[in-house]
Amino acid sequence: MSMQLAQLPPLSLYVHIPWCLRKCPYCDFNSHEQRGDLPEAQYVDALIADVEASFPKVYGRRLQTIFIGGGTPSLFAPASIDRLLVGIRTRLPVEPDAEVTMEANPGTFEVERFRGYREAGVNRLSLGVQSFDDARLAAIGRVHGADEARRALDAALTIFPTVNADLMYALPGQSPEGALADVREAVERGAPHVSAYHLTLEPDTNFFRFPPQLPAEDVAADMQEGIEALLAAAGYEHYETSAFARPGQRARHNVTYWTFGDYLGIGAGAHGKISFRDRIVREVRERKPLGYLKAALEGDAVWETRDVAEAELPFEFMLNALRLTEGFPVTLFAQRTGLALNAIEPQLAQAERAGLLERDHARIAPTARGQRFLNDLLEVFLAAPAAEPRSRVISISSRGTARP
Ligand code: SF4
Repeated sequence: MSMQLAQLPPLSLYVHIPWCLRKCPYCDFNSHEQRGDLPEAQYVDALIADVEASFPKVYGRRLQTIFIGGGTPSLFAPASIDRLLVGIRTRLPVEPDAEVTMEANPGTFEVERFRGYREAGVNRLSLGVQSFDDARLAAIGRVHGADEARRALDAALTIFPTVNADLMYALPGQSPEGALADVREAVERGAPHVSAYHLTLEPDTNFFRFPPQLPAEDVAADMQEGIEALLAAAGYEHYETSAFARPGQRARHNVTYWTFGDYLGIGAGAHGKISFRDRIVREVRERKPLGYLKAALEGDAVWETRDVAEAELPFEFMLNALRLTEGFPVTLFAQRTGLALNAIEPQLAQAERAGLLERDHARIAPTARGQRFLNDLLEVFLAAPAAEPRSRVISISSRGTARP
């Protein structure tokens, strides 16, 4: 019997702006160094054309959240973000209290700019602080210094209803005290949401080709434990692998990903997941910025579409939902995948026996060990090789943006 969804999941919109001032040596996102003037107005036209072309796929559904990520969206002028959000709102219904997040790099910070984004309707700013230590920022090739990050964070906290501070740890030359000092400063400055990512060396990055000296694995694990303890003591809920929030401040957009909700992804290289009653579709947009621009303006920016095979759904669901430290309600699996939970009973039992997962009548959650060894836990849910060729597994990066 094939999958059937009783109801469609919540829908979000992800918008990708693919340019940055400079490419950071650790970054494997679809971001391109700005050379000369950006085709900003044309790109906004292309995004709006993309929304319009996508309309039939999400007809009648309301956007719960919008996330403008990148790249560095704050390279775009507030007037462009305003035009983009008006273009979206006039084409797709948006919940009145929708969370509208935008990413910003402290290297682009100006108070007036931030005010302009707020006036355009952005109600949550996600700031790429990474560290408050100039030497660490230089070591990871960031374009901004610690004082710029401080000024940008302080201003964001006065301008936006809510703010996330992105931090990274296990940086070249970083001590455990240094990692904790960064987190402590974000707390003391008042960030209600902190994302703390472990620096990893991803293929196709300069750091992968020329690896810097990084803290040893056990030192990095101690940093992680120290960060978790510090944030817990300060009243933050550790609700996802890398995400910490004061009560009521969780990132609704990312929670849509982690609860296997739907998201339309527009912009160069953006990924989307859209459910229909009898199938779940993944889409990828043209990756190169200028190629995307042209394709979107011509009315079809989708580079790849594929139905997610039924055999892959349990793994895809778990890949997201098991990032949530509190796990998920048992009913969510059937709601989102259209499959009966007992279809994965052997895997659930296996993970439970291994001490990686715990469950009762209401919830299924990773244990502390399962959170720590998340890959081992996820492996349990990998489908056996199917008769048909397996399609590509798409993972959700730690930033919450889908990437292959
Ligand atoms: S880490 Fe952020 S600022 Fe750096 S290149 Fe990647 S997307 Fe751009």
